Amino acid sequence: MKITDIQLGMLRVPLKTPFKTALRTVEMVEDVVVLIHTDSDHIGYGEAPATAPITGDTLGSIIAAIDCFIKPRLIGEDIANLNRITGLIQGTMERNTSAKAAVEIAVYDLWAQLYGTPLYQMLGGGDPVITTDITISVDYIDKMVADSMSAIDRGFESLKIKVGKDIGLDIERVKAIHAAVEGRALLRLDANQGWTAKQAVYAMHTLEEAGVVLELLEQPVKASDIDGLKYVTERVNTPVMADESVFAPAQVFDLIQRRAADIINIKLMKTGGLSNAIRIADIAALYGMQCMIGCMIESSISVAAAVHLAVAKADIITKVDLDGPSLGLFNPVEGGVLFNESEISISDAPGLGIRQIHGLELLPR
Ligand code: MG
Repeated sequence: MKITDIQLGMLRVPLKTPFKTALRTVEMVEDVVVLIHTDSDHIGYGEAPATAPITGDTLGSIIAAIDCFIKPRLIGEDIANLNRITGLIQGTMERNTSAKAAVEIAVYDLWAQLYGTPLYQMLGGGDPVITTDITISVDYIDKMVADSMSAIDRGFESLKIKVGKDIGLDIERVKAIHAAVEGRALLRLDANQGWTAKQAVYAMHTLEEAGVVLELLEQPVKASDIDGLKYVTERVNTPVMADESVFAPAQVFDLIQRRAADIINIKLMKTGGLSNAIRIADIAALYGMQCMIGCMIESSISVAAAVHLAVAKADIITKVDLDGPSLGLFNPVEGGVLFNESEISISDAPGLGIRQIHGLELLPR
């Protein structure tokens, strides 16, 4: 099975409700879709959103990176040589992790199709059902409480609460949601770099003393502030998770050696796809550190790849934050991964099992 062409398209899906964090507000999924064609008529699918405030990737940069740099290196490559191809993709250029991820996902899709089996089985197997949390966007307290109640009614058992705007109000937000939820859901807090280290310690001590139990605190400080992350990790009881601070496997070694975080949030758009995400999960496993798998504002093409990885590495990826598809107004993808609110399951279709993408606008070649 040899690569004959790489085609790009755009996929747009409005969100049910705007996604708001301390960093940004997003109103729709607007992603580049990658179609890798082969001489055997199999097609591999990948996807990447533009998440400029986090990865630096824009729609234009993703398209240019794939068209001008990655695609010329891959034409003619044999899908059976997976490691060679992922090496070519990763070695093409610095950064541009979202573009690399989109292409790698399509390559892994084809690699599993080549052997006629679902991707998670090629990655080591597992129980093909996982449970995701859902994001509660940062907003007025009443709105956040109402959104939390509605998520619980829809069956979600873990809520990822976005904070990081105003420290005093953030504490009130969390207390109000904690009181309303009454133990019916686990609460995860994501500050998206919005606090200083001292503010984070103050907020967590205030919440801990008020009896608010949180499963974890995610990325309280700026991505580059590893000393600040360590400062918080050392001083609070709640486990601290690194998200924007960790993209690559080498950074995971550094975080572990410095004891700067307790948990790593793996996202394919940060790692540049599955090959490095697998490395991060394996490094974390060596040190007994748990991981979360997360996503950006993505549809069920790239999130499907994350689901396959989470199933295969379930021993170490114990927390799942793959709510991208359930934030969309509709699911444009007919495929092998079924997203049913909090429950995500994988069929036995080969690869990612993607059959059709509704509303895909192919870009001119
Ligand atoms: Mg996060």
